[in-house]
Amino acid sequence: MSKILGIIGGGQLGMMLTEAAQNMKEEISKVIVLDPTENCPAAKVGAEQIIADFKDEESIKKLSELSDIITYEIESGNSDVLKKLEANTEINPSPETLRIIQDKFLQKQFLQENGIAVAEFEKVENREELEKMIEKLGLPLLLKTRRDAYDGRGNYKINTKSDIDDALDLFTGKTLMVEKFVNFQKEVSVIAARNTKGEISTYPVVENLHENNILRMTIAPGRVSENVRKEAEDVAHKTMEVLHGAGVFGIEMFVTQDEKILINEIAPRVHNSGHHTLQSSTISQFELHLRAILGMELGDTSIKSPTIMYNILGPHTFKGEYNVLHREEENIFLKMYGKLESKPQRKIGHINIVDKKNVGIEGLLLQVEDLKNNLVIKPK
Ligand code: AMP
Repeated sequence: MSKILGIIGGGQLGMMLTEAAQNMKEEISKVIVLDPTENCPAAKVGAEQIIADFKDEESIKKLSELSDIITYEIESGNSDVLKKLEANTEINPSPETLRIIQDKFLQKQFLQENGIAVAEFEKVENREELEKMIEKLGLPLLLKTRRDAYDGRGNYKINTKSDIDDALDLFTGKTLMVEKFVNFQKEVSVIAARNTKGEISTYPVVENLHENNILRMTIAPGRVSENVRKEAEDVAHKTMEVLHGAGVFGIEMFVTQDEKILINEIAPRVHNSGHHTLQSSTISQFELHLRAILGMELGDTSIKSPTIMYNILGPHTFKGEYNVLHREEENIFLKMYGKLESKPQRKIGHINIVDKKNVGIEGLLLQVEDLKNNLVIKPK
């Protein structure tokens, strides 16, 4: 029987989930999103919308009454409210999984308790504890807010003791943790899925390049040694075994100088570093997520054609309505998110550059350079 899917969040991830759902008419009859922005990206492609804050209890209740199954595209949902609704509506990933992941300290503690390697960390509640941790872990050290942080907002790198005041001032009123600075050689991620029956599947490991803490480019598959590839995919598999949620998870990792894998962060949702799957694989991460929460067989997650995903970010020069001009070629796939206004550094779309002519990753990287020079985002 066809189900009504409720999604908390209707941004670009909700939009691409909606589009995937529209291709699964037998399983999903309708999508309803909860999002505060009127005419959000998901609504623009045909989802119904409840306009309200993601954490608004009444609206989450309303969404659960209207839906057969609930999922989310953001991790800042209200796990306490979702927990109360769990008895009546199917919610995946489970609110308990969400609760653990939402708090970076609980997340790291959970991983450590399950034998999964992470950088050394500790919670800190005051200046004295922070100073103690500096003595213990050395400098530089990352001070992180435990909750509601994304795209690097919520991290402060303490290089010297004189940074302590600024770091603590910046995060006044927030719960905090510290983490040993990892001098990584690469950042990679694995998009992993677990369906409601416990079947687990992962896409191949990809390589992520950040600029100003924002993901700029994903190279799929990642240029890593066979050992690193295997280790990263094994770590992702193990993480899915211990995390009891169903759905797609984005697992971000560091590759250390001696080729060890440390998990940096788990997102309990489809992930920017999985956008390449729209063209590189037979099943996109969005379809995979829906298959997982509906208890369907997960299917083929291999990469058929190497692909580079390049994020289109709002330029620093203006805010407002915009046009994007780019070079069109048969292996270049532009996806805009329908956002009405560009803001500096805001993700407004992405481009997948697919290796159709066997030029290899190095050849694709040359094409990316060319594309960057020809990509113009200008006010309308
Ligand atoms: P986060 O928001 O915690 O995922 O961090 C955003 C970015 O900060 C990561 O992609 C890394 O580039 C960097 N970062 C986070 N934690 C660490 C760490 N312990 N050591 C070095 N870099 C880090």
